[in-house]
Amino acid sequence: MSKQEWGYIRFLLRDILKREKGRFATMALLSLTEGLLPYISIVGMGVLLDEVYNGADGKKLLGCALVILLGTFFCRLLMERFLESFSQKLDYTKDLEAREMNRKSLSMDYEYLEDDHVQDLRSSAFSKSFFGIRGWFLWHLHDICKSIVSFILTLCIFVPTLFGTGEGLRARNILWLMLGLCLMLGAVFWGNYQASIRYIRKVNKIFNASDGLYTRKKYFADLLSGADSQKDLKINSQQNALDEEIGKICRTLRENQSSESRLFIKRKAVNIASSQLSCFLIYLFVSLRAFMGLISIGNVVVYAAAMVQLMDALNHFSVSIGHMKQMAMFAKDYADFMGLEKRKYTGTIPVEKRRDNRFQVSFEHVSFRYPGSAENVINDLTLSFEIGEKMAIVGKNGSGKSTFIKLLCRLYDVTEGVIKVNGIDIRKYDPAEYSRLFAVVFQDFSIFAFSLGENIASSDKTEEPLVRDSLTKAGLGERLAGLPQGLDTYVGKEYHSDGITFSGGEKQKMAIARAIYKNAPFVIMDEPTAALDPLAECEVYAGFDKMVGNKTALYISHRLASCRFCEDILVFDRGRVVQRGSHEELKAQEGLYRELWNAQAQYYEGEG
Ligand code: ADP
Repeated sequence: MSKQEWGYIRFLLRDILKREKGRFATMALLSLTEGLLPYISIVGMGVLLDEVYNGADGKKLLGCALVILLGTFFCRLLMERFLESFSQKLDYTKDLEAREMNRKSLSMDYEYLEDDHVQDLRSSAFSKSFFGIRGWFLWHLHDICKSIVSFILTLCIFVPTLFGTGEGLRARNILWLMLGLCLMLGAVFWGNYQASIRYIRKVNKIFNASDGLYTRKKYFADLLSGADSQKDLKINSQQNALDEEIGKICRTLRENQSSESRLFIKRKAVNIASSQLSCFLIYLFVSLRAFMGLISIGNVVVYAAAMVQLMDALNHFSVSIGHMKQMAMFAKDYADFMGLEKRKYTGTIPVEKRRDNRFQVSFEHVSFRYPGSAENVINDLTLSFEIGEKMAIVGKNGSGKSTFIKLLCRLYDVTEGVIKVNGIDIRKYDPAEYSRLFAVVFQDFSIFAFSLGENIASSDKTEEPLVRDSLTKAGLGERLAGLPQGLDTYVGKEYHSDGITFSGGEKQKMAIARAIYKNAPFVIMDEPTAALDPLAECEVYAGFDKMVGNKTALYISHRLASCRFCEDILVFDRGRVVQRGSHEELKAQEGLYRELWNAQAQYYEGEG
């Protein structure tokens, strides 16, 4: 095993000891009882045979048999108990692993969420943890520990008797036989280890080839079963093509599984052949010792059975050591993902709690480029604004509007310059407190299949009057009044069969209501009316002042007519603010705003 592979194995061990100490202990106890169990009968039977041979009375024999039976019974009971507790938790800990990865995803720097490399790593780690990486690793570790218990017990049985080899020729013969036996054990171990490494290498290749196929199959299957996608597929007659594609993937996966089975049988054949050969040699060795009169009849049974156990343990040991290589490969993506470090500096200054809600924001010579990108998306931007202002940000697609918001919310840190809130660099604020300043409705918001109330309050502790007020302000008051289940109405049918399917526009209003409910000093809306019809759009604008009250509202839109109600409009072009002013001022000026306005005017004739 390479140094790097050992590193990943150590990582898994540390991870298990940190998160699942109890399970590790169960694994150790399971290995101990499983390893010990066959030796109770082996040694017991040896003693019993010797007693019979030496003419012991019935009472003694009965006692002996009872000890064996009870010992085996209790040891087996314990083993089953540990096995049950170990396997019962497999599913639970697999879910635990998935939760840890999700927690990691949600707690890491935002930029990782938009980083393709990190997302690939994450999905690869998820697919490798399909059976639970830690559970799988512990299972192989249990095989190794069980083998070690067998080694130790066999040694304990054998070593004391090895010294009674007699004199002269007989002694030399026994030594040669022992040497032969040791060489054979080494050869069995090495042969099995190599066979298992080759097997794992080939299986990994197949696994990696299948990995992407599983993702594609899931994606296609989701499309075929999704209510929304079904409509598109049906209208465009794409369902048959997709179904065929799934069929092809299933066939390839089946072929991969067959190749895997063939490889498994080959590896098993090597395993069985080496076991058979070693058993033959063991019986030969023990018979010779008995023939030379060095061991009793009881010991013949003990040695032969113990050696067979040892060979079995050796087989398992070599195969499991090979599997450790596979585990190292599986752990790699998981370890790399979980080990991603925060790149952002995290400050500790609490955000000033202002009763007057006055916050002053300034961008000072801010430039920004996305990680891994060569070009600046924001260029030397300097501007300031105050709470209570309603500011619109307009500009063509790709001009940097959303990026400006991401910088303000500190989803990304600036590449150059500084952003200050109330005169303090935003990097110095406590990030959790700072993020509480903003309620954002992103273009690609998500509404979940929970109840309406839970969606708005983002938790199951809903403050009902506030939720109702937010929904009314966002223009859903009437709709709410018409819902028999009120705030308990489930959104969509995925979670609850009584759920209601809301329109895209209604969901957008819910996202707006959620932002209002958060009651943060800054309300940011990124194209909040894109899914609304003109009437609903008007409704939102009309209520906008009431909605945001004395908060700072930042409003991004490419529909210029939507922004007329804002006192302050920033016009973005290629990462710079090229114009700033009210609608009337900007319309009166030569420049991009007028150009955009004239281009869009046909849609808003009679409006302005
Ligand atoms: P707007 O909101 O004005 O449409 P954006 O701020 O979303 O523009 O994007 C500005 C530029 O930054 C675009 O060229 C876009 O392709 C690029 N961009 C946006 N997000 C990323 C990202 N995560 N990684 C790299 N480039 C990005």
